[in-house]
Amino acid sequence: MAQAMSIHPAVDQGTKPAATNFAGGTLVCHCPDQKVAVSIQGQCAHNHVCGCTKCWKPAGALFSQVAVVPRANLKVTANENKLQVVDPSAVIKRYACRACGVHLYGRIDNDKHPFFGLDFIHTELSAEKGWAPPEFAAFVSSIIESGANPDNMSAVRARLKELGLEPYDCLSPALMDAIATHVAKAAGVLSR
Ligand SMILES: [Zn+2]
Ligand SMILES: [Zn+2]
Repeated sequence: MAQAMSIHPAVDQGTKPAATNFAGGTLVCHCPDQKVAVSIQGQCAHNHVCGCTKCWKPAGALFSQVAVVPRANLKVTANENKLQVVDPSAVIKRYACRACGVHLYGRIDNDKHPFFGLDFIHTELSAEKGWAPPEFAAFVSSIIESGANPDNMSAVRARLKELGLEPYDCLSPALMDAIATHVAKAAGVLSR
């Protein structure tokens, strides 16, 4: 018998709807003490599961769970000295705890980037309930690059659909349109 696949612990049992007027929460790393803490004000947006090789995934999960918040709503509140950038050459600088390896947030420094001003977070690091749940699955084919068996991909996509997470091999059409619109405006092809 094949072991039941884990898309991600936050979605494997189904997702819960977002709480109305959700105030936010505190993300903490997995260290037993001296945890890095990051306070988030308000609700997240565009939560999704991501199959890319860069986003942080919990052990055994095929996907990460990642959302965005305005960078002004994110503040490191404890043990910031334990944070280091995983890959300084990446577009998204992912700040991880050097002791436990958990990624606390990702930030884009290039102010020309379509997602500049948004920080990337993993809401499962917070004990608060009511975060907006994942809405789709991004970069699904990329899980193969992390070692997933290519023969299982139709089962993975079927499971994602069953969970209500439409599978895409890049981002969702809405986000791809937002990126293309940003690029077209920057190039002067579209007026504002
Ligand atoms: Zn840690
Ligand atoms: Zn990713």
